[in-house]
Amino acid sequence: MFCPKCGSKKFMEHTVKSYRCSDCLFHIFLNAGAAVSGIIINANREVLFTIRKFDPKAGMLDLPGGFVDYEENAEDALTREIKEELGVNVTKLTYYKSLPNLYEYDDITYHTLDLFYFCEVDSIESIIVNDDVSGYVFESISNIDIKKIGLGSPKQIITDLKKLFK
Ligand SMILES: [Zn+2]
Repeated sequence: MFCPKCGSKKFMEHTVKSYRCSDCLFHIFLNAGAAVSGIIINANREVLFTIRKFDPKAGMLDLPGGFVDYEENAEDALTREIKEELGVNVTKLTYYKSLPNLYEYDDITYHTLDLFYFCEVDSIESIIVNDDVSGYVFESISNIDIKKIGLGSPKQIITDLKKLFK
């Protein structure tokens, strides 16, 4: 790999989370990207799952959400993503927990830190999917098959909720 600063070929993995050039000593760190996900529960105590339109894991279930933009806070990011994906407005966010995750895109594995929130929205009956979501489904927490969920961190969260809601 070439050094992005001096063009040397001696730009190599230095630690598990950094690359360094042994010619000009340029050292770049790779940190986890921030992502947000919403847990929306209806009156029947079912959780809203989105259906992923694109890879990774196209066609599989996910929770609504996405990456936090530069200069954006997590709550604004989740409010924006839910509006983009489901067409509804978030009226209340309650932080639940965070989990590390892996996201494969174009043969690159991105490390993320996913922040999960319980969310209330203004009109759950008027959801219209858009953006990177091809559909949605409500599933009861006790019946949901974890294997239908595409990515690691939502799998873990729903496994948690199964215990919590027992
Ligand atoms: Zn260099």
